Amino acid sequence: MPGLERGFLKVDMPDGSLVKIPYFRVKGGSYGPEVYVQAAQHGVELTGVYTVKLLLDRVRDMDVNGTLTLVPIANPLAVRWRRHFYKMELGEAYSSHHPHQMNRLWPGRADGNETERIVYSLYRNLVEPSDYVIDLHCWEQWLAPAALADGWDEVSVRLAEYSLLRFIAIRDRPSVHRGMITTVATEAGKHALTIEHSGQRWVFPEQAELVCRGLVNILRYIGVTPGEPVKPKLQLVLDRDPHVDVYAPEGEWIIVTLKKPGEKVEKGEEIVKLVDMESLEERAVKSPVGGVIYWIGSTRPHIDTRPSEEVQVVLKGEKYRIATIYRLG
Ligand SMILES: [Zn+2]
Repeated sequence: MPGLERGFLKVDMPDGSLVKIPYFRVKGGSYGPEVYVQAAQHGVELTGVYTVKLLLDRVRDMDVNGTLTLVPIANPLAVRWRRHFYKMELGEAYSSHHPHQMNRLWPGRADGNETERIVYSLYRNLVEPSDYVIDLHCWEQWLAPAALADGWDEVSVRLAEYSLLRFIAIRDRPSVHRGMITTVATEAGKHALTIEHSGQRWVFPEQAELVCRGLVNILRYIGVTPGEPVKPKLQLVLDRDPHVDVYAPEGEWIIVTLKKPGEKVEKGEEIVKLVDMESLEERAVKSPVGGVIYWIGSTRPHIDTRPSEEVQVVLKGEKYRIATIYRLG
């Protein structure tokens, strides 16, 4: 039977206070890989915290091979701040340059700001000894969930495939930022994966279930949990596989979404209604292809950090993308 350990990292803050970071460790009797899973680097990405809880419930009584270390809340300061980054202002855009943007600060600094110190402690104590690193995030509810791999590491790409998510992304070096945990990990010879759930700011339980199922499958694939992994079937690779963008016609419209990201659609099926703001006349928007919706409704970058961007309105003169659909078959 495996052993479950609970622990805390205690991180000294510049003002002399202490931040406690709880972690859980499931240890098998036999030698095997060390796997590190964390969630909530960004304070509004809460579904991953619940995914970690589900994963812990699932594996705690399993006969695991190796060690699984789970950090449900990697960034307690940002969660308590209730925004993506500690000290982020209301309405401030998500960016790579904020001094508390945790996923640009790996492997951290022992004498840095609050967030850099947390990163340093997580990295030195829990990430560095691991062979595999899985980082759970959430993007906006208008995008389908996806697994993102660093393309220069073949094993990372396999991890993305075994997540069983419909969409995966294979990133190349120029498209990743410095200081991301996954990149720092793959550069250090580990294998790493990012998973984006769909939806920020509250917990989407069906997303947590979906991602947890994929994580258990990944753990089977790398031999940590018993059983045969399910082979990935149909997956679409973001950017690389054929897709179409659908734009709103000129006008002033309220967008009524009829489909969700991740849903399959037939060619000619109605996905959105546009309601003219003046006349209330409706216009149907149909999918030009058969496929899977990746993005629908609010399709601007980082909409959930700027409340005005997520409002489902198209104004005159805007070239407004209302959906991106990946082709099937
Ligand atoms: Zn994030």
